[in-house]
Amino acid sequence: MITSVRNETEPVVERARIYSRLEHNISRSQISDNALKVLNRLQKEGFDAYLVGGCVRDLLLGREPNDFDIATNADPEQVKKVFRNCRLIGRRFRLAHVHFGREVIEVATFRGAGEAKNDKQVLNNEGRLLRDNVYGTIEEDVWRRDFTVNALYYNIKDFSVVDYADGMADLKNGTLRLIGDPETRFREDPVRMLRAVRFAVKLGFKLHPDCEKSMHNAAELLSSIPAARLYDEVLKLFLSGYALQSFEMLRHYGLFQVLFPATESSLAVEESGFPRLLLIKALENSDSRIAEGKTVTAYFLFAAFLWEPVQICAKDKMAHGIAEFVAYQDAANEVIARQIKSTSLPRHITMAMREVWSLQPKFNVRYGTRPSRLIAHPRFRAGYDFLLLRSETGGADPELAQWWAKYQEASAAEQRKMTQPPRKAQNNKSGRKKAYRKKVSDDATGTD
Ligand code: ATP
Ligand code: MG
Repeated sequence: MITSVRNETEPVVERARIYSRLEHNISRSQISDNALKVLNRLQKEGFDAYLVGGCVRDLLLGREPNDFDIATNADPEQVKKVFRNCRLIGRRFRLAHVHFGREVIEVATFRGAGEAKNDKQVLNNEGRLLRDNVYGTIEEDVWRRDFTVNALYYNIKDFSVVDYADGMADLKNGTLRLIGDPETRFREDPVRMLRAVRFAVKLGFKLHPDCEKSMHNAAELLSSIPAARLYDEVLKLFLSGYALQSFEMLRHYGLFQVLFPATESSLAVEESGFPRLLLIKALENSDSRIAEGKTVTAYFLFAAFLWEPVQICAKDKMAHGIAEFVAYQDAANEVIARQIKSTSLPRHITMAMREVWSLQPKFNVRYGTRPSRLIAHPRFRAGYDFLLLRSETGGADPELAQWWAKYQEASAAEQRKMTQPPRKAQNNKSGRKKAYRKKVSDDATGTD
């Protein structure tokens, strides 16, 4: 098949390379049944239907896809007519979601190149795409995608893989290459820089030198992206099992400071590497938990990211005469208020972060009934894990963490013993004194 598409900023597609079923390893048995249903149904209705994006890339690499995305020449309204269980979503891109219980198959109509002045495709002054609802052909759709390895299409008609952008070659040699001119593509959508980091880390790919060069210059553009979208991207970056590498790479390209400005500045004032260590340890723990199939929570990582900024802010307040408890509360409020200008944070997340932070001083009290009340706190586990993190990185006494480890394992009787106040010894002493006095007085009355 020979195709030719031309747009001023886009390279010319000379031809698509078609890999027949015999030339690639994607088998239908690896594709979700629901995705197959949608593909087959669209085809039956006379539309073209392809799997596209991360699922094709991952299947070719022998990895399990996160989700199955479909591209078609049917427009969203037509898709909606074919599936009863379908909802249309999105403003920036209009998409069809076909629901099968908990699984959602996303169906996108091929995007067209369009004209920037067209009211369906809107660029802002910086060249960022604000809306992009021009429909087109598969040949045009290719150029709306970000990386060549994300622009491979699996055709349900003949089970072939269609490659317009040399994605297969890049996939084989592990290169992440932007389609078109990197600077323009990052300008259109600066989130592509975060995606570059995410895919490079997750797939173990290297960035193409052109892509890398543009990224160094374009990092600041990220600050124009709505905080809610950045929050979604941050979750993908840090909760997918490659948090530490993502952190290092984001810092390398100056992207981290846009996402977490207060954290970045706190890293600059580190003393003996402690703040950085806590953060790194938190990221490492999160990655190894995911590797072990355990769950990780966003609030715990955010609490670790912002712990040092809160410390710095609270200490500053205390130096101005504000009492410790109030200083920490105010610092938490301020740091969170500043952070949500960069990445939004849902309320349940900020509430949980505050709880984790405010539990920390409570771990210092080991006597009386407070420990048993603390252990019953719904956020105890996270608070304790945070204490461990601090104790492993020089921010809390390791002996304190050991005490709490022992306390949790102890029987009720042992727990009571562990929390007996040292006052007890004094009581004994005064008790003895009383007894002595009593004895003296008894003696004095001569009742013996
Ligand atoms: P994942 O494994 O995380 O699902 P993915 O590549 O499938 O990775 P999605 O966010 O699911 O990523 O997007 C699906 C496809 O849509 C991508 O592979 C890419 O072709 C295209 N795409 C997504 N976001 C963008 C973007 N910001 N710019 C250009 N193309 C994009
Ligand atoms: Mg995907």
